[in-house]
Amino acid sequence: MTEINAFPQTLTIAGTDSGGGAGIMADIKTMQERHTFAAAVVVAVTAQNTLGVQDFMALPAKLIDEQFASLAADLKISACKTGMLADAEHVEIVAANLRKYDFGPLTVDPVMIAKGGAPLLAADAIDSVRQLLLPLATLVTPNLPEAQRLTGMTITNADETEAAAHYLQQLGAKNVLIKGGHADQSEVRDFALLASGDSFWVSAPRVATKRTHGTGDTLSSCITAELAKGKTMAQAIRLAKKFVAAAIAETIQVGHGHGPLNHWA
Ligand code: PLP
Repeated sequence: MTEINAFPQTLTIAGTDSGGGAGIMADIKTMQERHTFAAAVVVAVTAQNTLGVQDFMALPAKLIDEQFASLAADLKISACKTGMLADAEHVEIVAANLRKYDFGPLTVDPVMIAKGGAPLLAADAIDSVRQLLLPLATLVTPNLPEAQRLTGMTITNADETEAAAHYLQQLGAKNVLIKGGHADQSEVRDFALLASGDSFWVSAPRVATKRTHGTGDTLSSCITAELAKGKTMAQAIRLAKKFVAAAIAETIQVGHGHGPLNHWA
């Protein structure tokens, strides 16, 4: 008999994007493309398109707990990630469930503000992410503004990026990837600090496009899928960086604003 649950299974714990380009929708598409089976715990629902986030609502605690329990009772998740968590209460609920169940290595994408400027995490929830989620994180993947908020440090150059990564490791994240997409350079350079203490920079050419909606979600989902398949952290980060760079290089024409990535690139 074929072994039940033998196929690599991944989990995203995040918010939906009705526009299809970011959040859970981007996560599931990416995890599927990277040949894993994707499950999802919906924390929040957004009314959203490429022009922005029009509204959102986080789900009641009971329903989130029940989604976690449903998955734990049946699937065998090998790696998981968090995305939009809305507010401090929901960060607490998610952290409690992640302490309760083993869903493999956890990638924390500390989503705070959407490209269009909408807050996806209440400002007073950043402390909860720092205290409750970072200690559980196998990997944390902040962009520069998120890394600055989490560390309280100013990051304007490579040395400061490396210092911030070390501080995030002290806060409990085993591995750190600080994404340089928000820097003003011709190359997008991300800094990876591994649990072993080894570190490296990964870079990709900067593409002049506003079709980058869901970039962070796609990157963290790709890493999650590769970890589920047994890749090392360094391999997963390098593969994901390539995957996202290709998806940005040849974007598809969907919507009037910050369009989604091309997942078939
Ligand atoms: N909406 C949801 C539900 C998300 O999780 C995210 C990013 O993580 C976004 C929107 C923001 O996407 P972007 O900043 O790439 O436009």
